[in-house]
Amino acid sequence: MKIGILSRNRKLYSTRRLVEAAKQRGHEVHVLDTLKCYMELSSDEPAIWYKGDKLEGYDAVIPRIGASITQYGQAVIRQFEMTGCYSLVESVALVRSRDKLRSLQLLSRKKVGMPRTSFAHEVHNTKELIKLVNGAPLVVKLLSGTQGKGVVLAETAKAAESVIEAFRELKADFLVQEFIKEAGGSDVRCLVIGNRVVAAMQRTAQDGDFRSNLHRGGVAQLTKLTPSERATAVKAAKIMGLNVAGVDLLRSSRGPLVMEVNSSPGLEGIETATGKDVASAIIEFIENNSAPSKTRTRGK
Ligand code: ADP
Ligand code: GLU
Repeated sequence: MKIGILSRNRKLYSTRRLVEAAKQRGHEVHVLDTLKCYMELSSDEPAIWYKGDKLEGYDAVIPRIGASITQYGQAVIRQFEMTGCYSLVESVALVRSRDKLRSLQLLSRKKVGMPRTSFAHEVHNTKELIKLVNGAPLVVKLLSGTQGKGVVLAETAKAAESVIEAFRELKADFLVQEFIKEAGGSDVRCLVIGNRVVAAMQRTAQDGDFRSNLHRGGVAQLTKLTPSERATAVKAAKIMGLNVAGVDLLRSSRGPLVMEVNSSPGLEGIETATGKDVASAIIEFIENNSAPSKTRTRGK
């Protein structure tokens, strides 16, 4: 097969591993800088151009689109879809997964376990928002945050009001969420491919923090999932319409709760912690599932 990897940087671990795995499995593979792809729109034949050449003959693309270029990235993916090329991440699923509120709404609609969450526009709703998640302690999350940066724990109702008011002052979009204390500063990253969790790791926060992001100094270790955790992770990926997803779960006393579904899960942390060859599993999925004009809007 001829496979394109849409990535801004060929030196990134995940990009390198995907290139390596594709080559090992006998494919032709090219890294395409997403922002250097440009498009030709016409009624007869949409095309994608790259450094003066028309991109042709690609059987599949693997989008690795960073959060800061979601908008342009989705247009590039859609253009590939329009030419009949299979995209591992469909354009709609990418955009959906980048919108935390929309993602939680879709998961809630399908009754997937999640932390109790509230969201509002009006300033005078602050006390109500806090009440809807059963009071403090609670977590306030910036909708645009990544790597745990925009996530704040408020231990008391007073602290929660101050944080919420400060975020409003900054005109930031955020949601308010029940704090899952019994997760004990850990979460579980499940790497879903198709209908299976192929690797899972537990991440534990550094002392003094409740955020387990590896970027925040969290430590990863192998973990064994329960059947209900597996089922929840696979279901969440399916609802989002993602073939490959990093599903983050909190282990709560009422079962697994989905926090987030990531459409470009990093491979370094999970391959290192589990010793699994996730990159090859992704290429194998493409071998078994790609077909011309197969990528279309899915998910619920
Ligand atoms: P980001 O998308 O920036 O990584 P997350 O929503 O994943 O933000 O939160 C970062 C970390 O904070 C999580 O990995 C988890 O350890 C912790 N956390 C987030 N939400 C909650 C919650 N509702 N209860 C307990 N811990 C949480
Ligand atoms: N299929 C879903 C619907 O009909 C998609 C919604 C979404 O992605 O936000 O609502």
